Amino acid sequence: MIHANVQAHSLFQPIMVFTAMLLVGHMAFGGEGLVRAGRLHYLFHWLYGKYEPQVLRLVDWILQKKRLFANPLGRRIMSALAAMGHYMPHGIVVTTSAAANLVRHIESLPGGEDGPRLAVGPCVCQMALDRWQEPSCKDIVVLYGADIYLHLERGYRIIDAHEAVKILEQCRDAGLVHSLDFCMQSGKWHFVICSCDAEICVLARAYLMTGKMMYPGPHIVKQHRPRCRGEASCGWCVAACMFGANYARGGSVFVDGEKCMGCGQCVRVCARKARVMTARGNYGHDRVIPSEILISRE
Ligand code: SF4
Ligand code: SF4
Repeated sequence: MIHANVQAHSLFQPIMVFTAMLLVGHMAFGGEGLVRAGRLHYLFHWLYGKYEPQVLRLVDWILQKKRLFANPLGRRIMSALAAMGHYMPHGIVVTTSAAANLVRHIESLPGGEDGPRLAVGPCVCQMALDRWQEPSCKDIVVLYGADIYLHLERGYRIIDAHEAVKILEQCRDAGLVHSLDFCMQSGKWHFVICSCDAEICVLARAYLMTGKMMYPGPHIVKQHRPRCRGEASCGWCVAACMFGANYARGGSVFVDGEKCMGCGQCVRVCARKARVMTARGNYGHDRVIPSEILISRE
């Protein structure tokens, strides 16, 4: 009986998705407005979402087996995997206020025959690796991403921008870094706001090992040196930066602008207000998510 129920459920899910493909508008975020995601893209992304836990487990396994790839054959395999990785989701690192601006913007966009705008569910990395850490319900999927992940029946529920901002703030206070993920290097297909750590999150760990898969956001940090208490008396910003962009020398603390991804975590922990976020001069993703939207309401 149980076997029959499982079979019925596994048949029911593709039927639901096929029906959604035909009936739902599948709106995607295309720069400043909404565009159609397309039924084929919807289908491919649904397949990716369905097998995402397996993909994440494979990448996690690779990230833990560095030595296996330290030979000519291993390097070839790694090169092939890196080339395939080009078409995997990539992320733009943003501050909490920039992520909040984006969800409010998405909610304010004119409607149409579109489906849900925002939904939240359990962190896919934590679920795939079975390594749980609070906050765990923090995977904020948007537009066609919300539509797809709601169909995957993994505990996602529709939320509004107000609740999304509360979740983002909770993640910020836990020291997590927001990443606006988009797929296949496309300017249209932003589908999820992740909040990442450096121990579990596969995307962040892949970036820290390879320098790929994540990009700097529209902000960069600026330090007011006279206000800084230095490493011996403070040093909180050094510990808070998962990207290693802060370093101490001769008792003073410095920022390496090349490494700063623009997450804002060091600003949060600096009690002396010796740091502020400013607009980055060379933000490279205006075609995916324009900086005007991310920093306009700050
Ligand atoms: S947290 Fe602020 S005061 Fe402390 S070392 Fe960093 S910049 Fe200086
Ligand atoms: S220096 Fe600050 S803003 Fe830049 S990446 Fe590190 S914690 Fe984030």
